[in-house]
Amino acid sequence: MSQTENGSIKKKCQKCFKKKLVVDQCKCQKIFCLDCLPSFNHNCTFDWRQENKNNLEKMNPKILAIKVSSI
Ligand SMILES: [Zn+2]
Ligand SMILES: [Zn+2]
Repeated sequence: MSQTENGSIKKKCQKCFKKKLVVDQCKCQKIFCLDCLPSFNHNCTFDWRQENKNNLEKMNPKILAIKVSSI
């Protein structure tokens, strides 16, 4: 078994550069601390509006269909 590079990479927030806080990856592929992770805290480039729209359509196709047909 060879060592993985991922294990040795030090993650730190790409906005405030703090290392002490837990970091997580946003959908825009950048890593942020929990303070900066919300999309409105780091000028997120990910299209959340489109994502939400897609999720709604995937999760609730029947509900959308009912709404349309009931009008
Ligand atoms: Zn941060
Ligand atoms: Zn983001």
